[in-house]
Amino acid sequence: MTERYALIGHPVAHSKSPLIHTRFAEATRQDIEYSLIDAQPDGFEQAVHAFRAAGGRGLNVTVPFKEDAFRYCEEVSERARAAQAVNTLVFRERVFGDNTDGVGLTRDLEANLGLRLAGMRALLMGAGGAGQGVVGALLEAKVARLVIANRTLGRAQALAARFTGASASAYETLAGPFDLVINATSAGLSDDEIALPAGVLGNDTLAYDMTYGRDTAFLRQARSSGARPCDGLGMLVEQAAESFFVWRGVRPGTAPVLASLRGG
Ligand code: NAP
Repeated sequence: MTERYALIGHPVAHSKSPLIHTRFAEATRQDIEYSLIDAQPDGFEQAVHAFRAAGGRGLNVTVPFKEDAFRYCEEVSERARAAQAVNTLVFRERVFGDNTDGVGLTRDLEANLGLRLAGMRALLMGAGGAGQGVVGALLEAKVARLVIANRTLGRAQALAARFTGASASAYETLAGPFDLVINATSAGLSDDEIALPAGVLGNDTLAYDMTYGRDTAFLRQARSSGARPCDGLGMLVEQAAESFFVWRGVRPGTAPVLASLRGG
């Protein structure tokens, strides 16, 4: 019997998740259907209840509901507890929540882009839902230094305080060099440039923007500083694969899906 999954968020219309999960299901011969739920900002619980009542088995959760999803759960994984945000819900006897963003990012960096994170000096820009989801995984991958910078400094400080090995900074006072700079802000969506001090982005920096599908101000900044630019499409596919594994117990291959999304 076909089992139902969906992505809930607002907005979700342009999401690539249905395409990605449909490809995974075809490749692994899983009988699933994956749809989109565009919920009103105050309508998360109601929409989830309706989906469960109709037999839904699991959800991916995106902006702005990852923290609502964390509160909705009866049980969460360690990585979701560390993030205090959930992007994967599983409806078993109890509601289980997980967060696959962190492992999605580190798999893209290490398996797809060939980085060795251990020992790297890393800067994370942004302390919203996406930033919260990846700090634990970066530290677990043993980066040597992890600085979190955010427009609202207090949020970066609060996030860094939850993890041993992370520190917080304002953008203006950042002191490089960094081997890896990750843009986990939504500034790219409005094409705002975040001014970074000289030396933060250099010839040996991988500049990773979690935003995908557009040439952001951050990617342009990276190119003009001689850094290696990279978008977040690989993270999107990798976090989806991990969610698929959490739901179905089967790990789909990611390379063919990523290649086809890149038009290869
Ligand atoms: P969010 O919870 O709304 O947080 C937004 C973050 O961006 C905050 O840190 C905010 O700073 C910062 N910000 C927004 N506009 C800014 C500006 N003009 N200048 C400086 N900082 C600014 O959003 P999110 O869930 O973290 O998502 C962030 C981005 O990551 C989105 O583009 C999303 O699509 C992307 N993402 C990608 C993947 C993937 O798989 N590739 C996964 C998750 C998220 P303040 O705290 O000061 O407001």
